[in-house]
Amino acid sequence: MEHTRLGYWIKEAGDVTPRPPLAADRDADVLIVGGGYTGLWTAWHAHALAPDARIVVLESEPVCGRGPSGRNGGFCEGMWTSLASMRGRWGDAPALAVGHAAEAAVERIEAFCAAGDDDAWFRRGGYLQISTAPATDGIGQAALAACQELGVADKLRQVPPAEVQAHCASPEFRAGIIEPITATLQPARLALALRRRLLEAGVDIYESSPVRRFREGGDGVEATLASGARVRAPRGVLAIGAAAKAPGAPLRSRLTVASSHIVITEPVPDVIEKIGWTGGEALTDGRSLVHYFRTTPDGRIAFGWGGGRIQMGARLHGRAEVDADVVAAQRRHLLEYFPDLVGRRITDAWGGPIDASPIHLPAVTSLPRSRAWVAAGYTGNGVGPTNMVGRTLASLALDRADDPTRLAFIDPPIPRVPPEPFHWIGGESIRKAIDSKEAAEMENRRPGLIPSAISKVPALLGFHIGR
Ligand SMILES: Cc1cc2nc3c(=O)[nH]c(=O)nc-3n(C[C@H](O)[C@H](O)[C@H](O)COP(=O)(O)OP(=O)(O)OC[C@H]3O[C@@H](n4cnc5c(N)ncnc54)[C@H](O)[C@@H]3O)c2cc1C
Repeated sequence: MEHTRLGYWIKEAGDVTPRPPLAADRDADVLIVGGGYTGLWTAWHAHALAPDARIVVLESEPVCGRGPSGRNGGFCEGMWTSLASMRGRWGDAPALAVGHAAEAAVERIEAFCAAGDDDAWFRRGGYLQISTAPATDGIGQAALAACQELGVADKLRQVPPAEVQAHCASPEFRAGIIEPITATLQPARLALALRRRLLEAGVDIYESSPVRRFREGGDGVEATLASGARVRAPRGVLAIGAAAKAPGAPLRSRLTVASSHIVITEPVPDVIEKIGWTGGEALTDGRSLVHYFRTTPDGRIAFGWGGGRIQMGARLHGRAEVDADVVAAQRRHLLEYFPDLVGRRITDAWGGPIDASPIHLPAVTSLPRSRAWVAAGYTGNGVGPTNMVGRTLASLALDRADDPTRLAFIDPPIPRVPPEPFHWIGGESIRKAIDSKEAAEMENRRPGLIPSAISKVPALLGFHIGR
């Protein structure tokens, strides 16, 4: 097994020639820091809105999309499964507006994939949230009720156990719900396709260009690279993912950096055929430390787990990306769900940081002078929503007031997380407690009193963990 930082998708997508770093000072109309999906979709939408605008993207890695955007599970979801929680935070009409905007984002990604020559493996198979223990049998019921009450009953549907088994047979799977609009895709291929088409459109992408200082002034923004080169623009966007939690960064008290890891099997088309998982469905279980799994066109099973360690501050490398203990546990979980995989090879394992928000929803946060915005908090659900958020950021960066700039995820109230090291100590204690409680539930054991009590702490603080 190759256990690396970058993982299978980036390897599979192949090499591209990196763009040179920014070498000299320059001006732009829109400045974007970060070349993951949020930054690239912002550039994409800004170019569509203002084709003559000079758009600059600065990316610290040698190639865009090498962060979580190129390494994720490839679930391209809407946000209907979050409707109950959005409604609770923002009210009925704002929640519905975001639900529709997130669905439109999946449709735009589909259109983007269909229009180009790059095959990003976009396939609509729906998203099944399934219970794997009596304790999680209520999975999705709040979202289902919210959809029915708000007149969008067709967005989610209850799936009885027999139908779950018909989608994907496993001794552990019980009932679930389905969001039909969800697709799976190859994340790194999507990031590279976007990068290529932005370059063709004339967007200036500078790679190996880490921004060391970002300043917002009365008349614009300025980003300074480690090399000293600077970009100035009237408005800017910080699309730096989990790095927004770093000391001194704007979301240091609004994010937790957790980690998630994925293992992928060798091609096992016979197993996929045997268990009937041939519809391209994206699946998750009902755990807070969620398992997520999907198939690939060449017959592999990719199996992710959100049970990775909490990081101190925004420590992005190390065990956020390569964690042998977590991957070993994950391998056991994979075989519990799919015993037919015993004896089959896992070819690759990797991980990445999760920009987890206490409200479990993405947010666009204005910097004090309203000349720059920072977007993060996708909490492991950014593949579809980054397109929606990028559309909003494009309008904000071009100083346009249109519907996307009135969506509820702009400057929402978000509870603060404690400062380090208390945040990390508390976060790791909660993660371990939830893991212990959920492992007991999976085995039909009674969870210990202490893990059960600690697992309740986030909700008491107004934090939303899990689905
Ligand atoms: C293992 C894993 C599995 C996941 N699975 C799914 C899934 O199946 N479905 C789903 O919807 N979501 C999933 N996610 C989450 C999803 O990948 C993210 O929500 C999404 O990629 C966020 O995109 P982004 O552009 O905001 O951030 P990122 O992808 O983190 O991009 C930020 C970019 O900014 C750059 N950067 C940071 N600091 C600087 C700086 N100072 N100067 C210049 N550049 C900088 C980084 O190098 C990076 O390229 C998963 C995440 C992980 C880690």
